[in-house]
Amino acid sequence: MSKDHSMRFETKLLHNNQKYDPETGAVSVPIQHASTFHQKDIDTFGKYDYSRSLNPTREALEEVISELEEGTKGFAFSSGMAAISTAFLLLSKGDHVVITEDVYGGTFRMVTEVLTRFGIEHTFVDMTNLEEVKNAIRPSTKVFYVETPSNPLLKVTDIRAISSLAKEHGALTFVDNTFLTPALQKPLALGADIVLHSATKFLSGHSDVVAGLAVVKDLDLAGRLAFLQNSFGAVLGVQDAWLVLRGIKTLHVRLEQSVKSAEKIASFLEEHPSIKNVHYPGLKEHPGYELQKKQANNAGAVLSFELEDEQALRTFVGNVQIPVFAVSLGAVESILSYPAKMSHAAMPAAEREQRGITPSLLRLSVGLENADDIIEDFKTALTATEQTKQTILQRG
Ligand SMILES: *Cc1c(COP(=O)(O)O)cnc(C)c1O
Repeated sequence: MSKDHSMRFETKLLHNNQKYDPETGAVSVPIQHASTFHQKDIDTFGKYDYSRSLNPTREALEEVISELEEGTKGFAFSSGMAAISTAFLLLSKGDHVVITEDVYGGTFRMVTEVLTRFGIEHTFVDMTNLEEVKNAIRPSTKVFYVETPSNPLLKVTDIRAISSLAKEHGALTFVDNTFLTPALQKPLALGADIVLHSATKFLSGHSDVVAGLAVVKDLDLAGRLAFLQNSFGAVLGVQDAWLVLRGIKTLHVRLEQSVKSAEKIASFLEEHPSIKNVHYPGLKEHPGYELQKKQANNAGAVLSFELEDEQALRTFVGNVQIPVFAVSLGAVESILSYPAKMSHAAMPAAEREQRGITPSLLRLSVGLENADDIIEDFKTALTATEQTKQTILQRG
């Protein structure tokens, strides 16, 4: 057992129970493909019986994420949405969820189009406004659903304040920690009950696997979630569990580099005359700057920014060379995405506009390229937007 809490985070990523296989000494977690396990006799069943219920490779990942999030039990699912949806299965007909308004598009779809069919109600609120949150509470409120920093506007919610409000009302707090990971923010330590992850993003980090994770602290809650994981059955496959385990080993160095670059790129964009707005909680002007500093190590590696209009955005996207233009985030390569038509396509246009997800907003997940190369790439693309604008003005 390596439960030495004096160890620093980056050491814990490598020095854990999975450092080597006790049987063979193998320095990589063995991939156990078996779906079923031989039992000794009618009375003595082993720890493992069927891989949906428990599998050694998946279990290794579940242990690692639980330790990193400072929980007691981790769960690995076939996607982030599978983790989130399974956690929502803790609710019953008539229950109510208070949920952040700029939630991930897939979670928005789950809550508005699936849970409603089962009689589970919701209210969207600006989670950064505690009064608005309080006003949304009903006697039937059972879950407060937080995403911080939020997607794509990087609004910062006070996890401690929401968690204590939830406790007062006998409700649970779910925190989607995909954007920061336990390297930068630990929601359970701030009072949350369930931490959720799309491990597809920073945790695995290489755009090569789809996976989800959940971690809890309370043992009773752990038992209920284990029951649901086995009942619903959206478990993570063993190859994918191994990929996430490998990705996690470099989480700290990847984030350290990406955050440094994100800070530099955010400052560049903030100064550029063709950029209307930059959303990054690492900038002093960001309304969540102080809170972010208080509850997380830094602001992370995702930012969003607004160009003058949709035409400028089209020209910019058409001229940018380095980032891939795609959905998703949290990878070694920088990813530029268009929330209105990608992550938030599931949200009706009116709802998007109301939340500030405009047709001229882009999100950037900063990877491991040299930040100066990205800045030069962006400079060139922004010059192109200016030239296009001049041409249009002259024609008009
Ligand atoms: C991607 C993402 C999800 C969904 O995860 P999948 O692995 O794609 O199912 C949930 N929340 C956030 C914040 C995400 O970025």
